[in-house]
Amino acid sequence: MSHLQSLRGMVDLLPDQTRLWQAVEAEARAHFLRSGVEEIRTPLLEVTDLFARGIGEATDVVGKEMYSFLDRGNRSCTLRPEGTASVVRAAVQHGLLGQGAQRFWYSGPMFRYERPQAGRQRQFHQIGVEFLGVSTPRSDVEVITLAWDLLCALGVSGLQLQINSLGTLEDRLRYRQQLVDWLEVRKSQLDADSQQRLTTNPLRVLDSKNSTTQALLADAPTLLDALGEESSLRFQSVQGLLNQLAIPFQLNTRLVRGLDYYGHTAFEITSDQLGAQATVCGGGRYNGLVQQLGGPPTPAVGWALGMERLMLVLEAAASADADGVASSLMSVKAPDLYLVNRGEQAEAFALGLARQLRAAGVSVELDGSSAAFGKQFKRADRCGAAWAVVIGNDEVDSGQLRLKPLRVKGEDRLVEIDAPSQIVDVLRNRI
Ligand code: ATP
Ligand code: MG
Repeated sequence: MSHLQSLRGMVDLLPDQTRLWQAVEAEARAHFLRSGVEEIRTPLLEVTDLFARGIGEATDVVGKEMYSFLDRGNRSCTLRPEGTASVVRAAVQHGLLGQGAQRFWYSGPMFRYERPQAGRQRQFHQIGVEFLGVSTPRSDVEVITLAWDLLCALGVSGLQLQINSLGTLEDRLRYRQQLVDWLEVRKSQLDADSQQRLTTNPLRVLDSKNSTTQALLADAPTLLDALGEESSLRFQSVQGLLNQLAIPFQLNTRLVRGLDYYGHTAFEITSDQLGAQATVCGGGRYNGLVQQLGGPPTPAVGWALGMERLMLVLEAAASADADGVASSLMSVKAPDLYLVNRGEQAEAFALGLARQLRAAGVSVELDGSSAAFGKQFKRADRCGAAWAVVIGNDEVDSGQLRLKPLRVKGEDRLVEIDAPSQIVDVLRNRI
């Protein structure tokens, strides 16, 4: 029989990796808790129409990347390719938008049928933030700050924040014409995808990954120059506030993002460690989306951060600095106590003792090998435990256990076998 393998682009996370993932998730949770942002969890599966309407039919995501299928009731369903549309749907469905501004975060797997490569998978994971019902430039900046500060707290360096303004729908329509006029003349120099986008969704040409197209676009008219006065002033205040917070940024007049629902502020945080897949986090304002999905007119702004790319950046940061935050996030957490145990009576006793100590909050590694004491001891030493306790049938008979310090200074300690609280006290340095 052939070996079963995971699907292409779908990746297992093994304990070596989940350690870092958990540390990042814990940091993110604490960060959001401090920032008054609450978690929302939505289903992985939604009706296809949600994404077709929300993200835009002419985007890559909807056009060719979605995992869509008919369920047994003949409904077209899609594994979510991103989180924003679902968050908006949930907020509308549960009437949350009538209750004032909402500040959400989410995390979990997303699915896009893309060509897998470093930093690009078919099942990947995002952490995201959505603020609904807020319209000020200050809210844009608070949202950007949440992403920036989270990445800084994780010890990621070498980041670049790039921002642009996509203005109002009117601004974009005006600019669209200018861009189409300019590109039409140069159509033959564009890659095939971009030639097609010229008619379906011309602003998407700016997002082309083709290097010849990108080089050509260097001289194209910019959206920034086409902004109306109000949009322009708004964008200036966003920049002013970023300056005030001393968050460094670059203007990138070609930044449009991969989804159609953005207007006004758009931003990306990129890393120089990631090669072609440089964007760790992307987001912006999407004032039209809530209404487009059947809700009341509601301004909104948010971002999504790619976990796999963040992990690549953190791994690079850890190998560059063994004492840095990233390294400490990755380090193995050694148990407080290693239980060396051998012999029928002793093993049964150790099983119960491990349980009692764990219930008291002590982290315990219970050796399950029945190997010679010496072998077990070597493992205890290697795993980095602070203490070891040896339990053989002799100890069970004598009623006393010997606690041995492995990583802490001090003498062996004898404790009563039927008083696990004494062990806790020794470990906690109380006696
Ligand atoms: P890209 O241009 O890199 O395809 P995107 O514009 O499609 O990105 P968004 O939809 O804005 O990306 O998603 C936000 C973030 O999620 C990205 O910046 C990236 O870090 C991550 N991401 C998106 N698609 C993938 C993928 N297929 N695999 C891994 N991470 C991804
Ligand atoms: Mg993409």
